[in-house]
Amino acid sequence: MDCLFCKIVAGEIPARKLYEDDQVIAFHDIGPQAPVHFLVIPKKHISTLNDLSAADTPLAGHILFTAQRLAKEQGCEEGFRVVMNCNDLGGQTVHHIHMHVLGQRQMAWPPG
Ligand code: AMP
Ligand code: ZN
Repeated sequence: MDCLFCKIVAGEIPARKLYEDDQVIAFHDIGPQAPVHFLVIPKKHISTLNDLSAADTPLAGHILFTAQRLAKEQGCEEGFRVVMNCNDLGGQTVHHIHMHVLGQRQMAWPPG
């Protein structure tokens, strides 16, 4: 499958990894939008949030908890933003689900 993030999972494309376990990896975003900007992704290929099934809910929780834990490790305990874009209208460009974690600057609302 021609998926950029599956290639990162497989080690075929380098990434600045922050964390890895049997289910997820986290790595710094190549185009950071904040002083801290990393992505948490499942190792399993899931194209969009629309493709998440009931059986994936423990994995989704693990992604969220990993984001929280790594955000603290990156010094973002005072506040941070998590974002998951879904499909083109949601601004998704890489079709392998990923949680953005952004921190170390003031976030604005509404997002663009
Ligand atoms: P999205 O637009 O929500 O699909 O987010 C995709 C994110 O992946 C963007 O923030 C990109 O900067 C990031 N990205 C694309 N290629 C890479 C890469 N090779 N390593 C790390 N991050 C990447
Ligand atoms: Zn993939």
